[in-house]
Amino acid sequence: MKKLFNMLAASASAMASGPDGDKFEVAGLPVRCAHCRGELFVEGRAQLNTAGMSFLNLDWANRSAATLACVACGRIEWFLADPEERA
Ligand SMILES: [Zn+2]
Repeated sequence: MKKLFNMLAASASAMASGPDGDKFEVAGLPVRCAHCRGELFVEGRAQLNTAGMSFLNLDWANRSAATLACVACGRIEWFLADPEERA
């Protein structure tokens, strides 16, 4: 799970450096935070083919996922599809 923790730490430091975040959409729908309903996220990447993900039975994915970290509350949304930035 070390990789996952490193990824989370990287997301946290990206948030600490003070980006305003961007708006994204997936499958034609705007991405909103499931926790605070915020619309601004910092995009990141995470490999799914780690020991941790194998343990979680996600071997079928075996590729990278996009992570969108909510700049308002810090919740991370995960997508296998590539989120598109909204203007
Ligand atoms: Zn949020």
